Amino acid sequence: MQAPRKDWGTLSKSFVLNEYEFTKNKANGRNGETGNGGNGASVSDSPILTFSHSPIPLPFPMQLSVYSDDYFMREALKEAQKAFDADEVPVGAIVVCNNQIIARAHNLTETLNDVTAHAEMQAFTAAANFLGGKYLDECTLYVTLEPCIMCAGACGWTQLGRLVFGAFDKQKGYTSLEGKILHPKTKIISGILHEECSAIVKDFFKGKR
Ligand SMILES: [Zn+2]
Repeated sequence: MQAPRKDWGTLSKSFVLNEYEFTKNKANGRNGETGNGGNGASVSDSPILTFSHSPIPLPFPMQLSVYSDDYFMREALKEAQKAFDADEVPVGAIVVCNNQIIARAHNLTETLNDVTAHAEMQAFTAAANFLGGKYLDECTLYVTLEPCIMCAGACGWTQLGRLVFGAFDKQKGYTSLEGKILHPKTKIISGILHEECSAIVKDFFKGKR
């Protein structure tokens, strides 16, 4: 398990450091966080920012999370790039719990000679190992491509809390099928960074022709 990456470089572009002083609040369970629910995940590395000196009167302390669906999808895209570089169909996935990345995976079907070794399946196995439990109802799966029927079924079995995917897969995606494949409580967000997520797959198959 890799520790969550802290992309402070991005932050400094977004904020003027001379005007605001950032302090990283590492306290577990503070700032309205709900804690880890006893599932083994920790929020201790979540970079919650506190504006301690603001030129404009703001409700104090004003706190922003740097994390967003775009942020995590970019992490999933990094995994897709690893698959691309390994000559695998470039799909990447990560599992996030309390703003912490608890699993990173990419498609390994060629490497493992296993048609079930999709990015999502690898990510679910890694996340369950991390949490010490098989249900991911407090987790979000970010995956660069719409899950296939097999992986959507696995999303259902894990009772996944939230599914966020990038590009649609009109041919193999689960949304082409009618029926309840996902768990009824799973929230679904689609189209996050879909252009980048789709471009990497198109580039891969362009190179194969
Ligand atoms: Zn799949």
